[in-house]
Amino acid sequence: MARRRLVYEGKAKILYEGPEPETLIQYFKDEATAFNAQKKAVIEGKGVLNNRLSEFFMTGLNAIGVPTHFIRRINMREQLIRMVEMIPVEVVVRNYAAGSLSKRLGLPEGQQLPRPILEFYYKDDALGDPLVSEEHIVAFNWASQQDIDDMIALALRVNDFLSGVFLGVGIRLVDFKIEVGRVYDGDFQRLIVADEISPDSCRLWDIETGRKLDKDVFRQDLGSLADAYTEVARRLGVMPRNAARMNAGPKLVN
Ligand code: UDP
Repeated sequence: MARRRLVYEGKAKILYEGPEPETLIQYFKDEATAFNAQKKAVIEGKGVLNNRLSEFFMTGLNAIGVPTHFIRRINMREQLIRMVEMIPVEVVVRNYAAGSLSKRLGLPEGQQLPRPILEFYYKDDALGDPLVSEEHIVAFNWASQQDIDDMIALALRVNDFLSGVFLGVGIRLVDFKIEVGRVYDGDFQRLIVADEISPDSCRLWDIETGRKLDKDVFRQDLGSLADAYTEVARRLGVMPRNAARMNAGPKLVN
């Protein structure tokens, strides 16, 4: 079989050339990174779970008319996606204070915000993805004012959808990040949700117990990340058939 052309390799995913024009194959790795890749580990099964979970969220978004890059899942670790021109900005939506917002403004973690708060971060690893304003985005030509308005509308719809889905399974969506890309349909262009939506890019707290079910488990050494993601997948009914065994493996006994 011919070797596929690698288009891009990131921290948690690899992009390969797709089978048709304007498509890519997105491969989910088991690598976990945090603090701008200063902390790294391989979490067995994470890629499989995130592939499934991102498929689940993107399929739901497509179904309610929020356009995404997702076309179909190919196998345990890969999905077919539309090629997009990435906007070099991360869009964060927050419903409760946590993480960098709590630090920056001295808000207690878990405090409900008066309304969803939207932030933009400039995607630049060397700079550590700094917080930027709409002024920066337009002035430096990363996106137009119209693009910003479209990104805000997309992100708020994603927030309503995800908040509802998680609420239904007893999970609080504290905050999340999305990335957005541009596609061209003939003379028209539009922005669609790209990258991934998974517990790597959300803060998810169990509503009853407050247990963290997202990448903070890894950032803060709170236990098994694979167990946390498996719990999210199980509650959403998107467990891969062999997931129960996936992390079990043979165990060394004394
Ligand atoms: N986030 C992300 N990728 C990043 C930065 C943030 O997916 O490069 C997510 C993060 O998981 C959280 C939300 O965006 O759900 C807000 O993150 P925050 O600004 O609080 O930064 P952090 O505390 O993660 O450094």
